[in-house]
Amino acid sequence: MTSETRAVRGRGQVLALAALAANGLFQAHAASAAEPPACKPGSDWNTPAPPRRLYGNVWFVGTCGLSSVLVTGDRGHILLDGGTERSAPLIEANIRRLGFRLKDVRYLLNSHGHFDHAGGFARLQRDTGATVVARGDDAAAIENGRGTRTDPQFLSADPFAPVANVHRIADGETLALGTLALTAHATPGHTPGGTSWTWSACEGTRCVNVVYADSLTAYTDDEYRYSDQAEVLSTLRASIAAVAALPCELLITPHPDASLLWERTGAGAKSPLLDDTACRRYGERSTAFLEKRLAKENESVQRKE
Ligand SMILES: [Zn+2]
Repeated sequence: MTSETRAVRGRGQVLALAALAANGLFQAHAASAAEPPACKPGSDWNTPAPPRRLYGNVWFVGTCGLSSVLVTGDRGHILLDGGTERSAPLIEANIRRLGFRLKDVRYLLNSHGHFDHAGGFARLQRDTGATVVARGDDAAAIENGRGTRTDPQFLSADPFAPVANVHRIADGETLALGTLALTAHATPGHTPGGTSWTWSACEGTRCVNVVYADSLTAYTDDEYRYSDQAEVLSTLRASIAAVAALPCELLITPHPDASLLWERTGAGAKSPLLDDTACRRYGERSTAFLEKRLAKENESVQRKE
């Protein structure tokens, strides 16, 4: 294999580019640790964010408020989540800006079938030709451009551009592409088909467990009550426990703020990007949110009585 590395200086940024001639795929390496933080915590969903390397072949290509993660490989790439319809072109621009080709993206994986994570898939599928992969009721939601009453946010979630032929993945199934292997974990509760994804990413000889953990927040529309849904409530609790127990050095969540991503990246980061307590603490925050929601539901029942 021949490879060539050169430094390119432009607009104050130094990018070391490595062209991998053998497989025709082009890789760029951004020096993320030295860059300022990309976004302010609490940013709007569609605020553009510069792309940046998170670890090894794992790249953040989303917006300030919505994660989209590119995992690159020698036989093509995998993209996790597609943001909103409005953020899809920003994601595409970020992929290109890193030096990767849209047509090398082979799979579009989903966390859950809401418009803020699946709304960009129609455009991304059109421009990449990739297969959209999701699980259970959320796969149907993506094909329909909206969920059903099994979704706690059914009445409040915006509809989005539907996608044809969503590939269904099962709990525990691994999606392989060349040397890439990402495993789906059923983590329902926020939505019925919620899915978390895990894989290993390496830099030199150090490999870390990456967890793209789905949203575990007990949000509802005005009608839905978790306290009335014993089965859903217990699946959400089980999902939180499952994510908390995953081997986890690099946690990424569909909303970057949910895992404090902007406080963990860039120059002067307040906390480390790699942290093997991150999933456990994400579980604790999700449980605290759920207990607050249940207490609030209970309060409103007592007020009516
Ligand atoms: Zn959601």
